[in-house]
Amino acid sequence: MQLSSRVKETKTSVTLRVNEKVNKMSSSGQHVYNMTSGQLSFKPAPEFIECISKQLNFLKSYQYSAVSGMSKLREKFLKYTEEKRDVDLQSLGYECVISNGSKHTLYNIFGALVNPGDEVILFTPYWVSYPEIIKFWGGVPVVVQSHNFDSYTPPIEDIKKYVSEKTKAIIINSPNNPAGIHYSDSWMKDFAVFLKDHPEIIVVSDELYSDIFYFDPKPSYFYQFDKSLLKQTVIVDGISKSFAATGLRVGYCIADKKLAKAMGKIQSQTTSGPNSLIQRALIDFDFDILKNYYDPVKHQLRECAQIIMLSFRDAQLHHCYYQTSSAFYYLLDFSRMPFFKHWEDEKGSDLSNEITEDILDKTGVALVPGTAFGAPNSARMSLTLEVEPFKEAMSKLMVYITDKK
Ligand code: PMP
Repeated sequence: MQLSSRVKETKTSVTLRVNEKVNKMSSSGQHVYNMTSGQLSFKPAPEFIECISKQLNFLKSYQYSAVSGMSKLREKFLKYTEEKRDVDLQSLGYECVISNGSKHTLYNIFGALVNPGDEVILFTPYWVSYPEIIKFWGGVPVVVQSHNFDSYTPPIEDIKKYVSEKTKAIIINSPNNPAGIHYSDSWMKDFAVFLKDHPEIIVVSDELYSDIFYFDPKPSYFYQFDKSLLKQTVIVDGISKSFAATGLRVGYCIADKKLAKAMGKIQSQTTSGPNSLIQRALIDFDFDILKNYYDPVKHQLRECAQIIMLSFRDAQLHHCYYQTSSAFYYLLDFSRMPFFKHWEDEKGSDLSNEITEDILDKTGVALVPGTAFGAPNSARMSLTLEVEPFKEAMSKLMVYITDKK
């Protein structure tokens, strides 16, 4: 059977491969510290679970939803975003489109925006699916590098260099997966000034982790500093991270009416409307409950972040450390670590896969190789383990990292 070139060019998820090995090791009785997770090990708020169970009794929960989502929920997400971001989206005629997860939302957005050959700028480290989604629709990902020593914040001057006549959009993801940081207010202000000169560029702002920050100040967005920029902005959000419900598959975006309509058209011919049961539960659920829901989670994330900081400090590896503040990840830059000498002969190539495999074999710590995030010789570590196992895993990692022999 001959498969399409489109699918041949699409990369499969790396986490899948790592998890296969983790499962094999665990079933053969080896202890594995699985730090690959992209989700929290907490159940959604009990009040939300209650709303879901109430909706189980209604016929409408099992029937098709309106294609772009149920109007009451679309309105609720729109108002929720306005309140959280302190912006007025309705006066711009903006609309909310609900999809089956925000990954699906992003597929729809780029399907509606990108013509073959159009360029989309993204920054490293980027969420694994961005380049695949852009390429799927015939677009060209254009990558701007950021660095560990800049806490993975891309310099605005560098972004400018990559703008061309073909630039259709820029994706920003703050808080960032996999770096676990959000861009500062001053970066957002500078980004706003830069965008002022480029009204033709659409900014897709992936704000999926906006509620998960554990050090102040909280994430801000460029359009809050210059509200006229909302005209060229699409806000992407969802319930996966902020409601701790990755498996329920609800994502949404707030977009200009024309774009929202185009996305609805794509959705009508692909997946139809999103999950009716969960949408109905979300209509009933009081989102205000989420305000304190994350307090214990944030407490745990702060403790894990503190363990990382102390581990690098005690090993006198300050140059390998940067301060995380949001989402639940840390990106280890191997190229700055003492053990990397062992791999010196092969410098220049990306050894993320080989190194993470070696770490797993020697320490039992499973990480996601950085290749998939556009960050060579690095790996993503999740801060989702409980504090004690996290501490153990970190000390095993430090033995490996500091090995100079
Ligand atoms: N954007 C980012 C930055 C992500 O990390 C993820 C999932 N890990 C998504 C989008 C997609 O999330 P979902 O489809 O579960 O809403």
